Amino acid sequence: MAREFDFYIVPTPIGNIQDITIRAIEILKTVDLIACEDTRVTQKLLNHYDINTKCISYHKYNEKERIEYFLDVLRDGKKIALVSDAGTPMICDPGAVIVSELINSGFSVSSLPGACAITTFLSEIPRDNENFTFIGFMPRSEKQIEDVSKKLTDHNFVFYESPERILKTLKIIQSVRGDIKVALGRELSKLFEEVLVDNISSILCHFKDGIKGEIVCMVYAIKDFDTTKMEYRIKKLKDKGFRDKDIAIILATLFEYNKNEVYKKCLEV
Ligand code: SAM
Repeated sequence: MAREFDFYIVPTPIGNIQDITIRAIEILKTVDLIACEDTRVTQKLLNHYDINTKCISYHKYNEKERIEYFLDVLRDGKKIALVSDAGTPMICDPGAVIVSELINSGFSVSSLPGACAITTFLSEIPRDNENFTFIGFMPRSEKQIEDVSKKLTDHNFVFYESPERILKTLKIIQSVRGDIKVALGRELSKLFEEVLVDNISSILCHFKDGIKGEIVCMVYAIKDFDTTKMEYRIKKLKDKGFRDKDIAIILATLFEYNKNEVYKKCLEV
């Protein structure tokens, strides 16, 4: 048994239609109205699960207008569920304006746990700490991508990106941060699902013929540069006759450091 609320935020599948909870289906069946982004998309899900609840569209262009209507429905003692086209509403999807207005008007709101691309992705890639920064969709301009790559060096940062832009975005990140390690999730929970964890150059090579589908990506943080240990290793490799360029590649590969930083250190040692 769960507490009853006026308004439910209900996650829907991000690809595989079976990725929806039993409780989500029950709520969608029992509420009086479902607020969705695109009625055609949601109707497919409702048909699949034999859900006959009425749907009404909301999106960023009518979000404010819909609020008065939703308030009236709730004042009549009825219940509403909010869904987006895929995944969790308000994670890079609309709904925030509605929810904050309803809370301000004293209605009870509850969010159901469920499908979301970022949590699905993060729970299957290797990470050596829990910290991450989620920036939503990567900004579009080259300058903005460079700024993000320069600024977010201490934390792993995660972003959503379109298949049309991801390869260019990775090249821009590579130009700022070097050939660092990233994780890329594509088509999670779908037929062509794949997750790659590798240096940017290897990922670009893997997708040399292009990339399709829905993408989520994480750029690993730059690890602390332990100067003393690094200098010691550089000296040892130099003594063995290795060139700075090769030392940078070797140490960056072995210790996942930024190659350019190792190279700079090589010139000083
Ligand atoms: N609300 C959704 C969620 O909970 O993840 C996100 C909606 S946002 C409009 C859509 C973006 O999420 C896509 O462009 C893609 O970057 C990411 N995404 C959604 N489904 C995905 C999937 N199955 N695999 C990888 N990324 C996905």
